[in-house]
Amino acid sequence: MTSKSVTVRFAPSPTGSLHVGNIRAALFNYLYAKRNGGRFMLRLDDTDDERSTQEYALGIEIDLTWLGLTHDLFARQSDRIAEYDAAAEKLKASGRLYPCYETANELERRRKRQLAMKKPPVYDRAALKLTDDEKRAFEAEGRKPHWRFKLSDEDTSFDDLIHGPTRIDPRSLSDPVLIREDGRYLYTLPSVVDDVEFGITHVIRGADHVTNTGVQVQITRALGATPPIFAHYSLLLAEDGAPLSKRKDADFTIAALRHSGLEPMAVNALLARLGTSDPVEAVLMLDELAHGFDISHLGRADIRFDPLDLAKMNATLLHKMPYDDVKARLAAKHCDLGEIFWETVQPNLGLFDDVELWANVVNGPVTPVIEDAGFAVTAASMLPPEPWNIDTWSVWTNEVKAKTGAKGRALFMPLRLALTGLDHGPELKNLLLLIGRERALARLSGSSL
Ligand code: GLU
Repeated sequence: MTSKSVTVRFAPSPTGSLHVGNIRAALFNYLYAKRNGGRFMLRLDDTDDERSTQEYALGIEIDLTWLGLTHDLFARQSDRIAEYDAAAEKLKASGRLYPCYETANELERRRKRQLAMKKPPVYDRAALKLTDDEKRAFEAEGRKPHWRFKLSDEDTSFDDLIHGPTRIDPRSLSDPVLIREDGRYLYTLPSVVDDVEFGITHVIRGADHVTNTGVQVQITRALGATPPIFAHYSLLLAEDGAPLSKRKDADFTIAALRHSGLEPMAVNALLARLGTSDPVEAVLMLDELAHGFDISHLGRADIRFDPLDLAKMNATLLHKMPYDDVKARLAAKHCDLGEIFWETVQPNLGLFDDVELWANVVNGPVTPVIEDAGFAVTAASMLPPEPWNIDTWSVWTNEVKAKTGAKGRALFMPLRLALTGLDHGPELKNLLLLIGRERALARLSGSSL
């Protein structure tokens, strides 16, 4: 296969919000496509019209756009029911899709009996033995069939890009229901039909889908097609080892991360490398991340998500960002005070929005904190005349030190508190230049400016 033909897809069901767990499917597929010069498809698996909503679908697109994971192809399963009907007819005609009339209660009772007899709770295929008369009798009662795919006994193996050769024994599985009694498709068949019809070459998804893969390989073959290549990555767990679930971990939704002011590349850079054999690095561009992405480096062990890692990654990225890349963003916040300002405050940023605080320290008004007015007045009187340069700070503080005898923290902290109103912040030798003589004088004398 040439690399040109690579086509992958991210196939979320719009029944919830994307979070750091399920967004990995989008990220890995996107990076795989870019790395191989292929195409990335967004497919909304929305055949469950009770649980799917427009709002979630829109949210998914907003999240992907924010992360920069733009798609080359798009499909919505609810537009493609005719294709699934055609595939279902084909499977019915070949005897692989058969009607079943058991109610959920009946199935549950059967399952319990099997378990009590220490048998695996696999569907017993009783429906295959129904005569036409029996089926008609059920229908006359008002029962509608659900439809199961008849698994064949052959071993369904595939060569997983992460796990290597993988074997699913179909005899341990129940024939899967593909169509519910209300006529709606479950995800399994539409997914196969779409993967075949859109020429999906690789299916990269979570390890929770391995069993589905065995089933879907059989369905693909039953439809006369060749299965794609599969890769099942380990799932991301919360810090306590529990699965990341939509409801419990609302803070970890992509929308919540966006609203908290994180950089989208912090999310991409961390998630692309967590659980791989490659070091987690602050990578500024998706292209660069794609270039270094090797799916076979994803490991098999569980992966924990620690939100602190994301905060750290965010800070590291900000500390690397060149001024030209942030100039427009600074201007939009009325914080573009020039390249020196950016480089001065950059090491102090945890979030980009923190620049507002430092722009305010420069431009004021700042309420100075003065503990020893005498010391501040002396220091003010020694401020060198302008023009100032990068040495002004040390020239000045050396003089203040000689005059007052204060040194170290006792010298610098009162100056910082007076000049910025804060006990921490960027290097004062740069900050002093940005604050300028007029504001420095005012603040040292206790006035807000
Ligand atoms: N809609 C499925 C899911 O969200 C897609 C799984 C797949 O990649 O095939 O789990």
